Amino acid sequence: MRNAGKSLVKNGASFVNDTQQELLEIVTQVRTHLEYQKALGVTVVESSSDVPAVPAVVAASSAIKPIKPAEPAPRGGPEKRETPQALPSQSPSPTLTAVREELGECTRCKLSAGRNTLVFGEGNPEARLVFIGEGPGQEEDQQGRPFVGAAGQLLTDIIVKGMQLKREDVYICNIVKCRPPENRNPEPDEIGACEPFLIKQLQAIKPQFIVALGNVAVKTLLKTKAGITSLRGTWQTYQGIPLMPTFHPAYLLRTPGDKKLVWEDIKKVMAEMEKIKKG
Ligand code: URA
Repeated sequence: MRNAGKSLVKNGASFVNDTQQELLEIVTQVRTHLEYQKALGVTVVESSSDVPAVPAVVAASSAIKPIKPAEPAPRGGPEKRETPQALPSQSPSPTLTAVREELGECTRCKLSAGRNTLVFGEGNPEARLVFIGEGPGQEEDQQGRPFVGAAGQLLTDIIVKGMQLKREDVYICNIVKCRPPENRNPEPDEIGACEPFLIKQLQAIKPQFIVALGNVAVKTLLKTKAGITSLRGTWQTYQGIPLMPTFHPAYLLRTPGDKKLVWEDIKKVMAEMEKIKKG
């Protein structure tokens, strides 16, 4: 009986611990969700039972539009669309420096525990073109710069040798800013904690075009379950910005035969960049 009593007390303690843990997780999720909504321009959270499934976003041009699911561009690519608009600016639009400051020595998710260096992103703060990868690898984690390892060399070749641009002309960043252990895919809570800052970076840069590198970037940005193989080479839209999905350079290192497909995708981007000059 004594033992049974002890075990009840023990079970009771573990129940309390579990409940506390669950509560903590809920609070963290709510906080992440609210930060995400804030980044999208949501300024008011309704408390009535009539709260719409999709929170109201400040609809004026001073607010960023809510993310829509992947919408294929009309056949033939973005040339049939209106001239791409820059991201609607927040009032006032954040600067990259302000976003970096707000991020600070981030501990918003568990990736922070294993990182050496946070990899914010680098390049032209007014870039017309932004490349978005998945997350830092080992070399990036050491140097604090995106795409500086083997896959990064390939991306640099695409930009410099292929597009005849300098790395400093474009902006390069990732879905998550800290290296996932063993280079695993970032998990939903990690992506959720980091995404508001990516959104703000894009609000600051206001690029005309985005290239999403690989499955994680494409699925995160477009909120789609469709994979990179079916989407690559087809114009999509992210926050009103034409987005070209293509294979990740790390995949190309393993599958060099598909480099020609990426080159086709990149040529589509170059053709559109030629047509549309930033005002
Ligand atoms: N892979 C990525 O997705 N991003 C980097 O910065 C490096 C490798």
